[in-house]
Amino acid sequence: MDHRNEIREFLTTRRATITPEQAGLPAYGGNRRVKGLRREEVCLLPGVSIDYYVRMERGNLAGVSDSVLEALARALQLDDAEHDHLFDLARKSVAVPPARRRPAAPKQVRQPILQMLEAIPDAPAWLRNARHDLLAANRMARALYAPMLADPHQPPNTARFVYLDPAAKTFFPDWDRASDDIAAMLRSEAGKNPYDKALTDLIGELSTRSEDFRQRWAAHNVRFHRTGFKRLHHPIVGDLELNFEAMEFPSDPGLTLLVYTAAAGAPSARCLEAPGQLGEHPRPTQRTPGERRIGRRFTEGIEMHLIPKTPSTKGPGGMFTGDVHFDVIAAGVAPSRLRVNIVRFAPGARTAWHRHANGQTLHVTDGQGLVQARGGAVVEMRPGDTVYTPPGEWHWHGAAPEHFMSHLAMWESLADGQDGPETEWGEHVSDGEYGTPQP
Ligand code: MN
Repeated sequence: MDHRNEIREFLTTRRATITPEQAGLPAYGGNRRVKGLRREEVCLLPGVSIDYYVRMERGNLAGVSDSVLEALARALQLDDAEHDHLFDLARKSVAVPPARRRPAAPKQVRQPILQMLEAIPDAPAWLRNARHDLLAANRMARALYAPMLADPHQPPNTARFVYLDPAAKTFFPDWDRASDDIAAMLRSEAGKNPYDKALTDLIGELSTRSEDFRQRWAAHNVRFHRTGFKRLHHPIVGDLELNFEAMEFPSDPGLTLLVYTAAAGAPSARCLEAPGQLGEHPRPTQRTPGERRIGRRFTEGIEMHLIPKTPSTKGPGGMFTGDVHFDVIAAGVAPSRLRVNIVRFAPGARTAWHRHANGQTLHVTDGQGLVQARGGAVVEMRPGDTVYTPPGEWHWHGAAPEHFMSHLAMWESLADGQDGPETEWGEHVSDGEYGTPQP
């Protein structure tokens, strides 16, 4: 949306929420056509002319002095978040010299901050950026937010979870409030950073896919979310009532730490007390003699946590021929980039040709399968076989013609800050190519 429209709709929606009584003005007659204050009534308060107010409400805040903005904020009875949003909108009305631009949000969370997160052992604590991507979480937060972390879309994003994942309505018993809050927080952020592409992309996606989001976005509400109370319904421990505090890092603008606590002695506090309550398991510190060390690349940074029950996903036809279903087994949170799916192929089903930027390891658990690298022979896979495809190599895999086949697929997502998909998909594997395996 263009910036002047943004200002116009913000000011008109604020004006519509105040009654003359609230503004301390006499209410003239019973039949007001206008919801809220009339333009002239706003002008009575800050002592600016009607022409000047109309100019502002048409979206022109360029050159408006801070004292006039303050007066306007008072007249419209803006709260802190709305007040700051008005000033953000005014600031973005004039060209900002590069030196005053807010520094770009860091792509990766600094190591000392990650260590600080893990040093909070007794409370769920996590980090998010301004678009509400969950960037890192300590052990308790990973267990607490397991339903959100199960989203194969990485990094997990609270707004995407709330609006696009049906599980959110169970996880947030106060879903209406949670969805109002997140839309208002994104609206505040968009006022601060109207040219942040990742943010505008997210808002575009939510607007396209969610009517709930569209309605809330159109309300032009803005909100800070710095302290409060949340009810969550966890798949293992059930209902939780938690207080939260949100803190932004002065050294890393846009990066926010959230910590949840429960009132001492409350039932929720007991759920957070003992490790394991939320379904988490302590990290094994000692290896038992004879235990095999499996590829360090894939185990580093991984801890056990329960992935809640989510329905299997049926693969889209663009990626597969025949019926292919998969479940997410692991979707690591930074610094881990591990992804593990179990993939089940019906007889004759197979992937299209594709390649993985970081390579992929397959491990057959059941049935009989086939795999082929471009230019190579079709090779049979049996339970227990492990096949590695190097980065960038075109290949396909699937079930043998008359057998089911299941395999684990393990790979690393792209490093933070890299663009593009981890997997590139090509044409389908024709029946001719699928052919018969070599002995
Ligand atoms: Mn593959």
